[in-house]
Amino acid sequence: MTEEIRCIGCGAIIQTENKEDMGYTPKSALEKGLESGEVYCQRCFRLRHYNDIHDVQMTDEDFLRLLNQIGSTDALIVNVVDIFDFNGSLISGLHRFAGNNPVLLVGNKVDILPKSLKRGKLIQWMRERCHEVGLRPVDVVLTSAKKKHEMQELLDVIEEYRDGRDVYVVGVTNVGKSTLINAIISATAGVDNVITTSQFPGTTLDRIEIPLDDGASLIDTPGIIHRHQMAHYLAKKDLRLTSPNKEIKPKVYQLNAGQTLFLGGLARFDYLQGEKTSFVVYASNELYLHRTKTDNASDFYAKHVGDLLQPPTQDDVAEFPELTRFEFSVKEPSDLVFAGLGWITIKDPGVVAGWAPKGVDVVIRKALI
Ligand code: GDP
Repeated sequence: MTEEIRCIGCGAIIQTENKEDMGYTPKSALEKGLESGEVYCQRCFRLRHYNDIHDVQMTDEDFLRLLNQIGSTDALIVNVVDIFDFNGSLISGLHRFAGNNPVLLVGNKVDILPKSLKRGKLIQWMRERCHEVGLRPVDVVLTSAKKKHEMQELLDVIEEYRDGRDVYVVGVTNVGKSTLINAIISATAGVDNVITTSQFPGTTLDRIEIPLDDGASLIDTPGIIHRHQMAHYLAKKDLRLTSPNKEIKPKVYQLNAGQTLFLGGLARFDYLQGEKTSFVVYASNELYLHRTKTDNASDFYAKHVGDLLQPPTQDDVAEFPELTRFEFSVKEPSDLVFAGLGWITIKDPGVVAGWAPKGVDVVIRKALI
């Protein structure tokens, strides 16, 4: 009797007979696995392989080439965006590259936003922001890839719009695209085991194809790097603190003109002109907020960045870019957005300034909430 061999990924008993059953691995793969001491079933091998090759980053030029290529094929384009960093996740010019292909917008990380926020309102707001940059998505779907919510709904909507065609999934880095693809894989793998992932060798455009049951494919593309996001200036440990991983608890501040709020040592908000009013901060619950007088704020920052005002921590202060100032005159309820870090909602008219590390975008937009 031969000894049982188990997959080191999922623990299934390895077998080489029945493709449809758990633990299947081709004979040749089993032999290789035994040689190296690492035996995976085919499904786990593919999932693992998928994760390994996912971390390919592209240059802007490669990405443009890829987008052009997508524009000239007949496909559904699924654009994944991070709702928490909406401005930072829009791909400029996507509507031009899409050509006549429909674009389905997927707003991911919906679990982070306050539950009180109505989904219909959020979708409407996303549509409006898309229209401003010329993008007209055929539909907008909200997901939480991390919680695997709404995967079936998403697949149904994709099925409806793709109409037998290939599906290209595009997005900037950090929007949760790979988490989403993995959630799709695990949602479909159990059902009919159609999942195979493969890399197309010989091109710089690494892409990962997941066959769909009618012969078309769902194609994952590498994430494009959006350089003006806070994430590129932070150490990994700080990123964990500034990226919300659960529902944000908005923090309300009553401010007079002449008052400043620090968001750790990463960003600064000055209320320059206007009546006393409330401001709401939407950022990671872990981020320390500090109120002070605008007059002293620069000295205060120089003295306390790295200790009271963290992140950055003392070790990283020397490398951390200086804060740059952007001033805005606000007329309607607006959000002052620090790319990738969060935003501050301003309800009443006034003049404000936002400061962020040099290179990180600070923008004003119509209020989301
Ligand atoms: P990619 O660069 O677009 O492939 O993004 P990843 O899948 O690597 O995800 C980037 C970060 O966002 C990781 O820390 C994920 O854990 C997190 N993330 C992804 N999806 C979600 C989500 O639905 N909700 C939350 N809260 N975080 C998510």
